[in-house]
Amino acid sequence: MEIPLELVAGDRRFAPLDALEGVTIDLRYAGSNNFAGIPLYDNIDCAWIHVDAFQALTLAAAHLRQINAPWSLLVLDALRPHRVQESIWKRVQGSHFEAYFADPALGSIHSYGMAVDLTLVDAEGCAADMGSEFDQMDELSHPILEKRHLDDGRLTSEHLGHRALLRSVMSFAGFRGIDTEWWHFDFGDRSMIRASYPRVV
Ligand SMILES: [Zn+2]
Repeated sequence: MEIPLELVAGDRRFAPLDALEGVTIDLRYAGSNNFAGIPLYDNIDCAWIHVDAFQALTLAAAHLRQINAPWSLLVLDALRPHRVQESIWKRVQGSHFEAYFADPALGSIHSYGMAVDLTLVDAEGCAADMGSEFDQMDELSHPILEKRHLDDGRLTSEHLGHRALLRSVMSFAGFRGIDTEWWHFDFGDRSMIRASYPRVV
């Protein structure tokens, strides 16, 4: 099941990111402020997400408001068409970045609009200090190693608190985090998504 990106805007299975209430959007791959230093979504509109993930993200944003957190959600990446995944793969293959991107042979959950990269921002739009940057592809970004980084002083309890809040709000809404990127969340099981959802190419 595949759908070209150009048809997503007219397909009810997808929703525009700017319709998310109380969520701000800064698609890093649409501009140059990313690991590659150039726009990866050049002249294509990737500000979309699958409606199932859209509804869950709406719930996560509402939950954050409900608990009176001084933060809201900032989406950094969502739908990433398979054609972009392929071009990123060519760029990162053989570098240490490779481990952080899905091999196009298997495909990224982002290409189904069912994964989202995000962080927390305050009322002024300043991002919470997570101890490492979005797409900082090293061990400092690995949630599974947070306790160790706290012990050796590379991360503080404030960093861990921000990350834990993001994870708890996302898991409340049904998202699952991963071991290697604090900013990445899938909405549901990866094999199920690959088998049951249309991939945007
Ligand atoms: Zn991601």
